[in-house]
Amino acid sequence: MRCVIAGGGPAGAMLALLLARAGVEVTLLEKHGDFLRDFRGDTIHPSTLQVLDELGLAEEFLKIPHRKAYGLSMVTDAGDISLASLRGMPGKYDYIAWVPQWDFLKLITSAAGRYPGFRLLMNAEAYDLIREGRTVRGLRYRDESGEHEIRADLTVAADGRHSTLRERAGLVPEELGAPMDVVWFRLPRHPSDRDDAFLRISSGRMMVAINRKSYWQLAFLIPKGGFDELVRQGIEALREPVASLLPWLADRIGQIGSYDDVSVLTVVINRLHRWHRPGFLCIGDAAHAMSPVFGVGINLAVQDAVAAANLLAGSLRSGAPIPESTLHLLQKRRMLPTRVTQATQRVVQNLVIKKALRREFNPSRLPRDLTRIPLMNRMARRFIGLGIRPEHVRVPEA
Ligand SMILES: Cc1cc2nc3c(=O)[nH]c(=O)nc-3n(C[C@H](O)[C@H](O)[C@H](O)COP(=O)(O)OP(=O)(O)OC[C@H]3O[C@@H](n4cnc5c(N)ncnc54)[C@H](O)[C@@H]3O)c2cc1C
Repeated sequence: MRCVIAGGGPAGAMLALLLARAGVEVTLLEKHGDFLRDFRGDTIHPSTLQVLDELGLAEEFLKIPHRKAYGLSMVTDAGDISLASLRGMPGKYDYIAWVPQWDFLKLITSAAGRYPGFRLLMNAEAYDLIREGRTVRGLRYRDESGEHEIRADLTVAADGRHSTLRERAGLVPEELGAPMDVVWFRLPRHPSDRDDAFLRISSGRMMVAINRKSYWQLAFLIPKGGFDELVRQGIEALREPVASLLPWLADRIGQIGSYDDVSVLTVVINRLHRWHRPGFLCIGDAAHAMSPVFGVGINLAVQDAVAAANLLAGSLRSGAPIPESTLHLLQKRRMLPTRVTQATQRVVQNLVIKKALRREFNPSRLPRDLTRIPLMNRMARRFIGLGIRPEHVRVPEA
């Protein structure tokens, strides 16, 4: 086997597709039996739409029911504030497509399945690395039938922010800190409700509402580590602020019967100083966990995958050895976007979210329409839409 990838999220699935398309034998392992996990990122930004376009998959992708968002807005007590508009940005796509992540992953893995070198193992959990001396030669995984080994020239950890393989490789990320956690839940959506996804902010309270047609996916922000205290106060401690932030949900707020109806997601921002070992590479959240701020984590993970395929597909196809210095080139290339994106997310976390949760942020002081400040809007739309150092598919189809 040339390449084995642990983790069928955006990073692993995209890398598997790009390698299989380039004629590389590749196995992708996913520990769950399907891609149907709720409360994962749903935003496909122009940088990823462009990659899908370059792969000839944009048309198929856009057939998936989706909503287009041409800008970002914030709903305050004093009315809506336009934060950024993507209209007119360079390139073919000037919107964010909101698509359930499982539909995106199904599209990518089905496309990979059209190439003979691709193998997908579901319900397959990687738990260790195979080593010869310092070099990683593959991985061990378990499934319903027992424990197995896959030997490979390159082993990739794309198993997310709690990466097992990263830990087995002895790589420890530096934690950069986040002031909040997120409580996710659903409420039914009525046809007369508003039609968009938005950020709602008021003194001491913040939430994000995502229109999923028949229901709202709602994220209520709480101070870091504050979930146990919320539970201790009882379910009204969640229902009351949600109903006061979005009064039109008050008629259905009783449907959150207890804390069994919600999920809490711990927000972390971290990154590795070293993304590789001989024969081993981390990408996506396994290399750098992203905050949900700006919803760019999927897109950064996809960009890592594109850069990795551009750099490594040739050697993997021919069976040429991949020196660790080549893996380091990948890290060097993707470190700048990682650092800049995380730094910007931290600025927003510290100057807006942290202060808002402490009632120290007053959005009524902001201009109503930030998109009218041309330089600021150009920078914001480029950062959100394309990111730093956007990657393009350079590996030809075999
Ligand atoms: C609350 C929250 C909201 C977010 N919202 C957004 C958003 O709206 N838009 C956005 O772009 N980003 C968002 N993000 C960030 C985004 O989810 C991640 O950055 C992105 O999913 C990273 O992709 P990945 O492929 O690296 O990892 P993941 O998406 O975490 O995928 C890892 C995969 O590996 C599998 N796996 C784990 N361990 C193993 C193992 N041992 N063996 C085999 N498989 C394994 C997992 O089941 C999973 O499928 C959000 C993050 C948080 C915390």
